[in-house]
Amino acid sequence: MDEIDLAQEAEARFTRQALARHKAQAQAETPLVEGGARVCRDCHEVIPWARLRIDPRIVRCVDCQEAYERRR
Ligand SMILES: [Zn+2]
Repeated sequence: MDEIDLAQEAEARFTRQALARHKAQAQAETPLVEGGARVCRDCHEVIPWARLRIDPRIVRCVDCQEAYERRR
């Protein structure tokens, strides 16, 4: 196995891991939309646009996200 093979193998492994991570997260953390607005998955409060702009993957309000992270 030469250097190019090693690089390709490393890249393939990285891609597989990234895809698996993305898939797992997408299943667990589907954004909740009510009335055209993104709302918190836990308390259904509308998530402020400013918060979504910081991280579009956010699916909870600040309070629920903190509670969720403490539970993990
Ligand atoms: Zn909430």
